Amino acid sequence: MTKSIEDFGEILQRDESLAPYTWLQLGGRAEYLLTPGTEDQLLQVVRCCLEHDIPIRILGGGSNVLVSDDGVRGAVIRIAEPLLSNVTVTDESLTAGGGALLSYAVSEAVRAQLAGLESLVGIPGTIGGAVLGNAGSRHGDIGELIKSVSVLNRQGKIVERTGDELVFSYRQCSLDDVLVLSATLQLKSDPSSELTRRMRKNWIMKRATQPLADQSAGCIFRNPRGLSAGALIEQCGLKGMTSGQARISERHANFIVTEKGATCHDVDQLISRIQSAVSEKFGVDLELEICRWS
Ligand SMILES: Cc1cc2nc3c(=O)[nH]c(=O)nc-3n(C[C@H](O)[C@H](O)[C@H](O)COP(=O)(O)OP(=O)(O)OC[C@H]3O[C@@H](n4cnc5c(N)ncnc54)[C@H](O)[C@@H]3O)c2cc1C
Repeated sequence: MTKSIEDFGEILQRDESLAPYTWLQLGGRAEYLLTPGTEDQLLQVVRCCLEHDIPIRILGGGSNVLVSDDGVRGAVIRIAEPLLSNVTVTDESLTAGGGALLSYAVSEAVRAQLAGLESLVGIPGTIGGAVLGNAGSRHGDIGELIKSVSVLNRQGKIVERTGDELVFSYRQCSLDDVLVLSATLQLKSDPSSELTRRMRKNWIMKRATQPLADQSAGCIFRNPRGLSAGALIEQCGLKGMTSGQARISERHANFIVTEKGATCHDVDQLISRIQSAVSEKFGVDLELEICRWS
């Protein structure tokens, strides 16, 4: 007999708040929150949801999601350590599980004297989240390095997608599968001390310009072509504006930071005010970069 979602008793929580699992620390409940302990359990859970038409959302590090106060229907499947967190280096390639922290992959690459990932230093979250959103900085993004990605497709089968099959653009990837199981990256040998120096420099720059110690979800808006969303918001004089327990960061205007008790409604209010102000002053429509779950 096929399993129903209720059969995953020991890893299933019903009506569970998602706030503790997101960097913004806010939002409503998931109808089902599942935290598989092994890859086998993970595959079984996803296949069960596919079979029973239960909507699936994958939660990695939670550093790029804004969850509605009303919560979400269906299953949220959390990829939490040690699930899918292996990182291995062979010659000039690095393979990381979808649940491995991007920061761990960066440090393993640099330790193995392999260049390519150091521009992503300081970006929170997992490899799965980084692939889905083509995480990057002005010096490069993860998509440029992808050799192949192992995924679970919508038919519940594990398949390999090569880098050539995928299209990566600014904070976007063409993948339409349910789950990133692992990614293999093509790096380049660099035995010089330059590599560590570059990584440190990128990290210092990031720390100096972004509110990394605060609760946030990274940049809220995508940069319009040739423009900086942060600069537009700053020029509207919106830095420091608050709504409830959410605030537009004084350090970087494209970050909304939250305090204890903040709600998604607080963040939505700031998002609307920013969009109206930027549209009025510059005629530019800002689009969300964060993933809004509702
Ligand atoms: C302080 C701060 C600084 C940041 N700086 C940057 C930056 O410089 N550059 C940048 O690009 N981003 C930045 N971000 C945003 C964020 O860290 C990245 O988008 C990150 O890659 C998200 O990874 P995650 O595991 O937290 O994903 P989550 O937030 O958990 O999920 C994001 C999306 O990815 C999907 N997803 C996650 N894991 C998987 C998986 N295994 N399989 C399929 N889908 C999956 C989710 O369903 C969701 O749609 C920053 C965020 C913060 C809080």
